[in-house]
Amino acid sequence: MKSKIPHNNLDKCTGDGHCVDICQTHALELVPLSENEKNHLSAKGWFNLMMHGSLRMRVVHPDRCTGCGHCASVCHKHAITFEESTIAETQ
Ligand code: SF4
Repeated sequence: MKSKIPHNNLDKCTGDGHCVDICQTHALELVPLSENEKNHLSAKGWFNLMMHGSLRMRVVHPDRCTGCGHCASVCHKHAITFEESTIAETQ
């Protein structure tokens, strides 16, 4: 099944969690950046890391995402875009 799921720009995200809170299917969680991800941050990403900590939104349950777009609409950093993804049928 093809579906559009959110992609989070780790350089723009500040981990405020509004997207996680609004997701009615609980597809999203805040997860700490890995050391590898930290190593690939831009200067802006490092600034956000220093100012806001290391938690960032992740799509931990892509199969639950309906593509409604509410997560992107509440992101004041415009960090969330949508990507085509192939999700395995669960039924
Ligand atoms: S698009 Fe909708 S269902 Fe999917 S993660 Fe965002 S808020 Fe949740």
